[in-house]
Amino acid sequence: MTQTTSKTLKNFVGGIWIEASSNQTENVFNPATGTVIANVPISTHEDVNHAVEAASNAFQTWKEVPVPKRARILFKYQQLLVDHWDELAEIITIENGKSFKEAQGEVQRGIENVEFAAGAPSLMMGEQLPSIANGLESGVYRYPIGVVGGITPFNFPMMVPCWMFPMAIVTGNTFVLKPSERTPLLANRLAELIAEAGLPNGVLNIVHGAHDVVNGLLDHHQVAAISFVGSQPVAEYVYKRGTDNLKRVQALAGAKNHSIVLQDANLDNASTQILNAAFGSAGERCMAASVVAIEDSIADAFIDELVQKANEIQIGNGLDDGVFLGPVIREQHKERTLQYIQSGEAEGAKMVRDGRNDIEAQREGYFVGPTIFDQVTTEMKIWQDEIFAPVLSIVRVKDLDDAIRVTNQSPFANGACIFTGDGGSVRQFRETIDAGMLGVNIGVPAPMAFFPFSGWKQSFYGDLHANGKDGLHFYTRKKVITTRWV
Ligand code: NAD
Repeated sequence: MTQTTSKTLKNFVGGIWIEASSNQTENVFNPATGTVIANVPISTHEDVNHAVEAASNAFQTWKEVPVPKRARILFKYQQLLVDHWDELAEIITIENGKSFKEAQGEVQRGIENVEFAAGAPSLMMGEQLPSIANGLESGVYRYPIGVVGGITPFNFPMMVPCWMFPMAIVTGNTFVLKPSERTPLLANRLAELIAEAGLPNGVLNIVHGAHDVVNGLLDHHQVAAISFVGSQPVAEYVYKRGTDNLKRVQALAGAKNHSIVLQDANLDNASTQILNAAFGSAGERCMAASVVAIEDSIADAFIDELVQKANEIQIGNGLDDGVFLGPVIREQHKERTLQYIQSGEAEGAKMVRDGRNDIEAQREGYFVGPTIFDQVTTEMKIWQDEIFAPVLSIVRVKDLDDAIRVTNQSPFANGACIFTGDGGSVRQFRETIDAGMLGVNIGVPAPMAFFPFSGWKQSFYGDLHANGKDGLHFYTRKKVITTRWV
């Protein structure tokens, strides 16, 4: 039996699976059926201290392991993840609800992060200048920073942890991961497989739980840095508390991503891309399309196509063939989504497709069908807030200037897309839009592992983003050596 199939999950500390010190647990549900699939321990400060101690001890030897040897463990890990691809995807679908195909895609994204991190011998190289003055030379070397804490959200149980720990450990740090208590299963399987790949004990540790574990990591004097991904209020809190405790913190937060559709866009492509971006993973993506800002003259035609395509979406259990739209994560999240839908109606938006009427929305599991509002304005809550569900708002605009003005009013600035064939419009969009990840004629412009995941404004707190060279820099510190040869 693996740790993922046992009923009450354990923590992974110093290479050993152990019970949490408290017997408080929370149910983990399969959101497609509403059944309890596991219990996750709500660990305490004591558990955090234990894990940080194990990570701190392991750091003393792990940091001395040559970089190519550390990378070789990731090569083995990569192969194990490939071998277990479908098994991992199935766990993701069962605990998160997204379709099996999307879960397979998520596993791929996780693997790509491991592959990128395995390039550490090249990435960690320093730089030298052999002659800074007569007989003087300087060089910069990179070193790990120590114990890193990682706190992750429910929506990408594999990809987001893989944004963090592979790069952190290959650069010589040790890691304590606190997975989302709503999707905690996959993290245990990731840990089992990396242990199988030969990772020494204590280099990766897992402590399950909720805010007590987060606070324990934020306050622990032996934790050098915190990587956080989650909602905006928690990201801001984590950033403030972590930096107040003089830690390095990167906190990736929520989003309200706008897609701009101009008159000259290919409407078939735009509607397909936006449909996938709005309703894929039940809208529970930080790069989900949640607002379309569209030129008024083509809005009716676009909406007709969108609704037609939305009507063809198969809703259901993500493990079933052909299913595209799975459930949202919890009953409470479904309730919250329904409240937003009501608020949209009450504030005067025009409902063009009501996902409450899909028969799956009446069944067991936490389903909401694709919901589309037209004539949304920036005064409405459905425009302002991240709903994180399959609800799409359409704002009619006069032109590109107007679309950019609407988009830039949002306090969030993760991703933004434009659909057009006009180079000048693309340039204006690129130069003036407030968002860190842009797409042109594409729905979800999520960068691959070797580029930074670069949200702006209230979508990100910190300096160095996750992934790419930013990730490498976040997990390393430098020494500059100046030498005189006399
Ligand atoms: P969340 O903020 O509820 O939880 C994230 C993590 O923080 C979890 O591990 C949780 O246990 C912990 N947490 C929650 N409340 C806390 C509190 N009060 N004190 C301390 N810790 C707390 O987020 P979620 O619902 O799991 O994930 C969805 C959110 O994550 C969305 O807002 C989404 O946009 C965002 N997200 C952002 C990115 C990005 O790259 N910007 C990527 C994925 C998800």
